[in-house]
Amino acid sequence: MQDYELSVQHVLWRMERLHSKKEVVTKREQGLHRITNGEMVRRVNRLAGALKRLGVKPGDRVATLAWNNYRHLELYYAVPCMGAVLHTLNLRLFPQHLEFIINDAEDKVLFVDQTLVPLLKPLAGKIPSIKTIVLMTDGAPAAADHGLGEMLDYETLLAAESEDYPWPKLSERMAASMCYTSGTTGNPKGVVYSHRSQFIHTMGVLQADNLAITEKDTVLPIVPMFHANSWGLPYACGMAGSKVLFPDRFMGDAKSVVGLAEEEGATILAGVPTIWIGTVAYLKESGKRLPKVHTVICGGSAIPQAVMQAMDSLGLRMLHAWGMTETSPLGSVARPRADTKPEDELAARLTQGIVVPGVEIRICDPATGAELPWDGVAFGEIQVRGPWIARGYYNGYDPGKLTEDGWFRTGDVAKITPEGYIEIVDRTKDVIKSGGEWISSVELENAIMAHPKIMEAAVIGLVHPKWDERPVAFAVPKPEFKGQVTQEEVIDFLRDKVAKWWLPDEVRFIDEVPKTSVGKFDKKVLRAAAAPIKESAAPAVRK
Ligand code: AMP
Repeated sequence: MQDYELSVQHVLWRMERLHSKKEVVTKREQGLHRITNGEMVRRVNRLAGALKRLGVKPGDRVATLAWNNYRHLELYYAVPCMGAVLHTLNLRLFPQHLEFIINDAEDKVLFVDQTLVPLLKPLAGKIPSIKTIVLMTDGAPAAADHGLGEMLDYETLLAAESEDYPWPKLSERMAASMCYTSGTTGNPKGVVYSHRSQFIHTMGVLQADNLAITEKDTVLPIVPMFHANSWGLPYACGMAGSKVLFPDRFMGDAKSVVGLAEEEGATILAGVPTIWIGTVAYLKESGKRLPKVHTVICGGSAIPQAVMQAMDSLGLRMLHAWGMTETSPLGSVARPRADTKPEDELAARLTQGIVVPGVEIRICDPATGAELPWDGVAFGEIQVRGPWIARGYYNGYDPGKLTEDGWFRTGDVAKITPEGYIEIVDRTKDVIKSGGEWISSVELENAIMAHPKIMEAAVIGLVHPKWDERPVAFAVPKPEFKGQVTQEEVIDFLRDKVAKWWLPDEVRFIDEVPKTSVGKFDKKVLRAAAAPIKESAAPAVRK
């Protein structure tokens, strides 16, 4: 067989040769921006020429601070295909984290969307590796009070280049892109993807038992392009030839997203549970429906049962997937197996699913490292290995994440059923230890979020003099039930759903669960601000 180098250049070739008429549609302030793949590939050639002219060499890091839009997609191709490394910056990080990441990666050029220039302001004078900043704008240039020096204009740079870039021959083991973890514990850490890993991951994403993206689909990724490669969707759509819809900065606005999906005929949507909570509310209130959508991919956090059922009842079928930045990110997909009884379907879809072909998985006791059985009872840390799983972090941080025998320690705690369904019960750092026994905060949260008056709930363990730790729930009532739901009501609701000793000692009502930069519950913030457990609460509740 030929020793064919696997690279992102192949995706670009397909887009040009086979799918040149397919469109990429981006939401704008006013109306929509449309471009065909054919036009886009020509612009990608120009962009590669511009990068070369700016002095970008193979292996150099090129950063982006951008929303999901067509220019960001052009960078997704031009940067890796000319041999450099695309570094997508998370626009929701604190300035100190952004500064750390840019300096850690030693980015050389930075591309920024006009609306995001204010985020760079606090970094003026603190990111010496950046030699050039390129502004991506549709209208007037950014006000010059940002202190970041001259910014070049994206469109002017492209206009000066040829549509025929001499793409270099790449080795599949070269770095193609990098992405930092969201830094819930300490500084974010860089994960570097190779051309080979991106290529094989793309093939994995497309498989029928995985995300099953085809040429006939119109895909609307609401997961940011700076978060774990937008779950691999940009390259998967390029490879398959699907039409792509980008929400730009209107990602969190259910009305805009539903409007875009409706007008442009989306068939696949993808986003984290928080997005779907907002979508359900908007669809119910507006009476709108999206009959062309056949799949709503949901990952990033466990799907609360209530959300899946609400989406199902609106005709939007959810597909639950698990993964992480370090796994490119696709790790597992929850499609019920052929022998699933109809009454067990929902439960199977709510698990994190079955590990995808190409990745191996095991669960291990976090203390002893011993491998645990797949009996649906024992739970331990998920460890994975495969061609798109990280073996370490950029600059060598946290070397302990790889076991001696070469498996990546995910930090997620799960059980695996004999059929292979993964059920995440917690993160290793969030699991609650009460009286020497483990309590799954995730299971408790899901049980509480099934309460008809509750919108969101996060559970943490707080210090308890007798039991070490006891669970305390932080619940957000649905707007119409604000001030009308009591702790006792929630606890009563849980009584036939979880073991008695799992019942939270307290339910505290809050307006919003704090979220991380990628929309997950930020339990670190909850823990830091939480008042100690009330002595009087425990006996009353645990009776
Ligand atoms: P990130 O690298 O920011 O994408 O975060 C990855 C982490 O998100 C995983 O290690 C899990 O803890 C969590 N996660 C991702 N998908 C799921 C899911 N389907 N269910 C539960 N947790 C998830």
